[in-house]
Amino acid sequence: MISAVLLALACNPKDKVAVSTPDRNVPEYAIVIHGGAGTIERSHMDEATEKAYHEALNAALDIGEKILQNGGSSLDAVEMTIRYLEDSPLFNAGKGAVFTHEGKNELDASIMTGADQKAGAVAGVTTIRNPISAARAVMEKTEHVMLIGKGAETFASKAGLDIVDPSYFFTEKRWQSLQKILKENAEKTELSEDEKGNKKNGTVGCVALDKNGNITAGTSTGGMTNKRYNRVGDAPVIGAGTFADNATCGISCTGHGEYFIRYTVARDVAALMEYKGLSLEDAADYIVNKKLVEKGGEGGLIGIDNKGNIVMPFNSSGMYRGYARPGERYTGIYKD
Ligand code: ASP
Repeated sequence: MISAVLLALACNPKDKVAVSTPDRNVPEYAIVIHGGAGTIERSHMDEATEKAYHEALNAALDIGEKILQNGGSSLDAVEMTIRYLEDSPLFNAGKGAVFTHEGKNELDASIMTGADQKAGAVAGVTTIRNPISAARAVMEKTEHVMLIGKGAETFASKAGLDIVDPSYFFTEKRWQSLQKILKENAEKTELSEDEKGNKKNGTVGCVALDKNGNITAGTSTGGMTNKRYNRVGDAPVIGAGTFADNATCGISCTGHGEYFIRYTVARDVAALMEYKGLSLEDAADYIVNKKLVEKGGEGGLIGIDNKGNIVMPFNSSGMYRGYARPGERYTGIYKD
C-alpha cells in the first residue's frame, strides 16, 4: 500500500511542483524556522501571547535574513537565528527548556551543512547557554559528530562558549508544567501543557539557503517534559531531527522524537527526493501527513530545497513557524 502511494507520487511529482512553484527562479536566499509543533489551539491562546510569538518569530527571521542578505553563509544564519530562539523563554530550547523528571534542564542540538554533509551535535547538556553553537563547534573543531553530557560541556568550555549555571534555564511556566504532569502521571513523558490546555514543546529549528547555494539545517530542544534516564530525542540525531544535503534539501523536525528517530524522518524526506525524484513538497507531505500519521507520530518539519522552495507541514493542530525570501515574509501558528 505504502509503495503504491509512493510510486504514484514518484510518477507524478510534476503536478504538485507546478502548483506550488510555477517556473520560479531560484531566490537569492531563503530561510525558514519553527518553534515547535503540538496541540496549539486558537481558542486556547490569548492575544498577547499570540502577538509575543509572532514578534519572536519575526525577530528571529530578521537576524537570519540580514546575514543572508549581506551574503553571509547559511551556517551563520542558522546558528545566529537559533541562538536567538534559544535565548527566548517562549521556546523549549536554551532558556525556557522543559524540565526532566528530576527537575533539571537537559538540552540537545544539532547542525548540518549541505555542501559537505558535515554535522555536529550535543545531547544531554546542562550548562551550555547556546547548545546550537556547541553543535557547530563539534562539527568544526572535532573529528566527531556527537558529544554528550559532561564531556560535551568540558569541550564547550574549552572551545570558549558561554557556560552558565543550570539555574539559568529555569522558567516558572515550564516548572509548573512538570509539577502538573508529576501529579497526573509521574511515569508519563509529555509535551508540556500550559494553563490554557495547549500541549506543545517549542523545540526550535532553522533551515537556510544562502547566495552560494549552500543549505544548512539546525535544531535545538529541551526535549520532552518529565523525560528521565537521560532520554535523548531526535533533535540531536542527524537523519532523524536534522539533515542537509545541497543536492536535495535541508530539514529540521519537531514532534514526538521517538517516532522521528525510528522513521529517520529528516533523511527520509531527502531520500524520497534523491531516489524517487519527488519534489520537496510531495516528499515532506508524504512523510508528515501519511507515514507519520499512520505510525502515530505527532509533529512537523520545515525544509528548503536547492531551488529555494519551502515547506512547513505538520500533523498536529499547530506549529510555530515562519519564513523569509526576498520580498516575502510569513509567520504562522495554526493550521489555517
Ligand atoms: N522532538 C523533540 C524531542 O522529542 C521535541 C519537540 O520537537 O518538541 O525531544
